Parts: sequence; C-alpha cells; structure tokens
Amino acid sequence: MSEEIRCIGCGSVLQSQDSQQAGYLPQSALAKVENGEREEVYCQRCFRLRHYNEIMPVELDNDDFLALLNSLAAKKALIVNVVDLFDFSNSLISSLKRFVGSNDFILVGNKFDLFPLNSKESKIKDWMRQEANRMGLYPKEIFLISAAKKKNLDELIKYLNLHSQDQDVYFVGTTNVGKSTLINAIIDEMGDVQNLITTSRFPGTTLDRIEIPLDNGHFLVDTPGIMTKKQLASKLDPKELDIVAPKKPLKPATYQLLPGNTIFLAGLGRIDYLQGPSTSFTVYASRSMYVHRTKTEKADEFYEKHVGELLTPPGAKDELPALKGQEYNIKYRSDVLFAGVGFITVPAGCLIKAYTPGGIGLGTRRALI
Ligand code: GDP
Repeated sequence: MSEEIRCIGCGSVLQSQDSQQAGYLPQSALAKVENGEREEVYCQRCFRLRHYNEIMPVELDNDDFLALLNSLAAKKALIVNVVDLFDFSNSLISSLKRFVGSNDFILVGNKFDLFPLNSKESKIKDWMRQEANRMGLYPKEIFLISAAKKKNLDELIKYLNLHSQDQDVYFVGTTNVGKSTLINAIIDEMGDVQNLITTSRFPGTTLDRIEIPLDNGHFLVDTPGIMTKKQLASKLDPKELDIVAPKKPLKPATYQLLPGNTIFLAGLGRIDYLQGPSTSFTVYASRSMYVHRTKTEKADEFYEKHVGELLTPPGAKDELPALKGQEYNIKYRSDVLFAGVGFITVPAGCLIKAYTPGGIGLGTRRALI
C-alpha cells in the first residue's frame, strides 16, 4: 500500500475517490505526487480557497474528532483551547472537561485586537476564568492574543516552549475562532515553514489533524475545528460573515434611550429597553453592522418588514431562526452579549429584553470597559 500523502493546507489525507470528502484531488494531480513529480500539494478545496477565496463544503467526521479527544485523556499533553473573545460562550468547549483528564489546560482568547484600546486585560481574564469555572474547566493560564495582528504572541510562545519539553501540545477549538491563523503565526514566529495551514473567514476549514514538529522532539498538534450549531458563524454565508466580523477595534456608539425604545443590530440582535431612567446604552459591534433605533411598540412590525433587506444580515427573511428574547434585570453595569456580533453596555437599574436568532449566544457579564 502506498504511503499516505497529506494536503499541506489542511492536513487531510489526499484521495481522488470522493470529491465531497476531505482531501479530494483529481486523479491526474494525485498521480503526479504519487510518482514524485511534485512534492507538496494542496487538496482541491484548499487550492480553491487559497486562489479564489472560495469555500467548498465537505463532510466532517465528528466521530474521528471525538476519538482524538478521547485519546487525549490517556496521554500526557498540554491542551490549548483557543476561543473567540467575541463568541466566548460558544467557543469554550465544555465537553473538554471529560477529555482533559489530569492534563494541563490553558485558554487562549483570540481576536483581542478587536477590543477597544482602553480595555483592561485583567478584567477580561477574570471574566474568562469565571465562565470557564462555571463550566467545570480550570485553566492553568489564560492568554489574550491576536493571532492576526500577532499581539501578545511572545508570551504564549514562551509558555508553549517551556511546557512542550516533555509533552505534545494539542490545539482545540470550535471553527472560526482563529486557531489556524494562530498556528500559522506561531510557526511564522518560530521561523519555520510558513502558510502550512489554511486560514479563512469561513467556518470548518481545518480538516483532520496536522502535526508540527518542534526542535525538542515534541509536536504542536492542530485538531479540526468543531462546528457547533450554536455559532452564528455556522449559519451565515461568507458575504454576511464579512459584515458581521469586525476587522478593526470596536468603536463604541452611544444611544440615549428611554424605556419604550428598541435597538436592532441589523437582523441579528435586538434590545428592548423596558424599565428604567433616561440613560445611554453603548453598542460595540463591527462598523459595517447596521444599527437601528425605533420604538418598541413598532419594533415587531419593523422587523417583519425589513429583515433580510434594511436589517441585513441575514440576507433573507427565513435564513435564520426567528428572534427569541430573554429579559434581564441589570443590577450592575453590564455588557449584554450577542455572541459573534458584539455587545451592548447597559447601566445598572435597567430592565431590558435582548434577542438573537433562536436565542443563540445571549448572555450578560459585568461591563468590561
Ligand atoms: P479556525 O476555523 O479556528 O481555524 O479559524 P481561522 O484561522 O480560519 O480564522 C477565522 C476567521 O477569524 C478569519 O476570518 C480570520 O481572519 C479571523 N481571525 C483570526 N485571528 C484573528 C485575530 O486575531 N483578529 C481578528 N480580528 N480576526 C482574526
């Protein structure tokens, strides 16, 4: 049997049988690699992604991933859960608790570059730790980084170097948290092979696992992103994701509100101000997101009329589940979270109702800024 050949983009084993499965490459191209005419090759999917920025769907085998996670508990390994600071509750892998075993576990909060410049790192880390503890996870360390902007990477790399002396390092994360971008950045900083792993704005692009050898004989292991249905990113198309995903630090936009007012975050979020004094709410979201203020009594009608058009994303009316709301009695200055989209800071003493499609990713935390 011939040796397995892997795509240098996503790490999938190359095959030419099924174009719908990971690692597909037409037979003619695969033959060139097999007979040594070419050494390095991308699967068709990674090739298209790199050259045309085009995503091809592929069926992910979750069983393989679970098996990989299962094997971690029995190994000595450092487990790194990369999370998206803007979709924290959905990107923290709660089932990790079962897989970590007695291994060390750290949290890496990515996309820190999007937080406003005056954000306090210690406050953000405290919040992450509390949330992790609530889910039964006890990270040894928490890092706030930007993989894309290479911010705070040195600190993380130092830690990884130190802790990979006697074990492999496994990176786990849900899709779209920036895990591939991070690993690329680490490789880059280490002065090793560049662009080894595909990165893209589209969820679900890292397939199979990929091992990066370290000088000390151990490996950095990238595992496939787990796609969770809870992530908004899994429901939006690339164009919509482009609108939602901030590219620059979030700029606060303040709205003076009275009870009876409603704010829409395009068609992806809504907040009704139910009770409290005249006050201001501060919206933190991508600059390309359309924010609309209206009267709560007219809000349902407004949404029905404009969702998919003025209120876009979503691109069409029935693309996402209907907005589902939850009331919050805000006792201290808090951020109301719209996972994957942004947050709205609300002062103490307000009763509000917040909505997202299907109630996905709603939550509150003590105001961070
Ligand atoms: P993966 O699915 O976890 O491997 O995620 P990718 O590395 O493919 O990144 C997902 C999206 O997040 C892409 O659009 C990246 O450009 C973006 N991204 C990754 N890292 C950062 C970061 O540090 N800051 C910002 N703002 N975006 C990032």
